[in-house]
Amino acid sequence: MTTLKLYNTETRSKEDIIPLEGNIIRMYTCGPTVYNYAHIGNFRTYVFEDLLRRTLKYFGMEVDQAMNLTDIDDKTLKGAIENKISLTAFTEPYIEAFFQDLKTLNIEPVEHYPRATSFIPEMIKIIASLVEQGVAYTGADGSVYYAIRQFPPYGRLSHLHMHDLKEGASGICSDEYDKENAADFVLWKSYDPTRDGDIFWASPFGKGRPGWHIECSAMALSLLGKTLDIHVGGVDNMFPHHENEIAQSEAYTHQKFANHWLHAEHLLVDHKKMSKSLGNFYTLRDIINKGYTGPELRYLLLQTHYRTQLNFTLQGLDAARASLERLSDFITRIRSIPPTHAPSLEPLLIETEHRFKEALADDLNISQALAALFDFVRETNALADRHQIGDPAPIISFLERLDRVLGVLPLQPAQEHIPQQLHDALRKREEARQAKDWKQADTWRDFIHSHGYLIEDTPTGIRLKKRQ
Ligand SMILES: [Zn+2]
Repeated sequence: MTTLKLYNTETRSKEDIIPLEGNIIRMYTCGPTVYNYAHIGNFRTYVFEDLLRRTLKYFGMEVDQAMNLTDIDDKTLKGAIENKISLTAFTEPYIEAFFQDLKTLNIEPVEHYPRATSFIPEMIKIIASLVEQGVAYTGADGSVYYAIRQFPPYGRLSHLHMHDLKEGASGICSDEYDKENAADFVLWKSYDPTRDGDIFWASPFGKGRPGWHIECSAMALSLLGKTLDIHVGGVDNMFPHHENEIAQSEAYTHQKFANHWLHAEHLLVDHKKMSKSLGNFYTLRDIINKGYTGPELRYLLLQTHYRTQLNFTLQGLDAARASLERLSDFITRIRSIPPTHAPSLEPLLIETEHRFKEALADDLNISQALAALFDFVRETNALADRHQIGDPAPIISFLERLDRVLGVLPLQPAQEHIPQQLHDALRKREEARQAKDWKQADTWRDFIHSHGYLIEDTPTGIRLKKRQ
């Protein structure tokens, strides 16, 4: 049996993925701050997380995943105040847009999408415990800070040493708050009427709001338990965000916070860091407005290994489009082949799936997995040229199986062009068949045929297909 191995940022080595409990992988993935539309750099991470989730399931595990929505931080607060609306009124449209974008990219919904504002009591509880243990203190401005000196393993994930984190070192700038050490981070920001308007929560530490880092700890611990199997995020979250999550959570629970850490590398655009000032900043919506599709962007984001920087270009998107068209042509061709007495393709299917699975098992080696698929397409096309395809149905169900991981193959015929009356006819035919009213079923079948459509029996059910 092939075991899934993934690179662990903390140990810097590839390790077997074995669930802590039963067959369930409890996974936390840092989600978007909902003050704007997510950009393609964000989606690189989310598409990778989706590939990871689907791969875990492909390897037979169940996944219990949480992705937070950061709806309270400096940016959402500023947006709400500038627009003179409530925090919810400000963030809601971006949350909706985010879910639409996930759909466009065929990212599977996860089990939990907690909003930070729904977990304030849990955050307060953790902060109170940290204060009580002497790990956190109140600064001169009334905010509560985490004293990283009180957590000796601090830096363990990003392999930074405490002495690197002295004042001003490691690019940590002293911010406007009065802390004991520049690297200490805020757990609870005290209320400032000019900055915060009327947005605040009451707490034992006074009016204020949570810091960003504590949000993830509280949501992860509340929803998934004290120790996560896997924690994922973009590489820019590794330090300080994930380091801080570890410090808060472990000082609170006295247990290991996450067994396995994965980080997705940056996305560059035309070899440069994406930025609005350089004019190379793209949201998913910008890409769609340029005439590209969700699957095309998904394919592009998917095909580079997650630990390699991805250089996004529009030419790259054109190439992704060409790859998908090749797959689409292949699928159309296979579907149109009538069954013959040629020998079964089973050995080729088994060999290809073995290669595909082995590649994924090796820290999600996607280029090898896609190479297995494209080799298969080439070989099968050659067999089709020689009329040596026995039965096309197993090929389609094979592709459907691989697509449970990839989520990008053009396997669905364009359903939107099929008139509703034919969908209705198909449903009525099924009802008639179930009632063993064969005559009625045949009438509906003839009706469908007379409109130029065939009824196709597939492993995933019955569907309509336009007659070629
Ligand atoms: Zn986080």
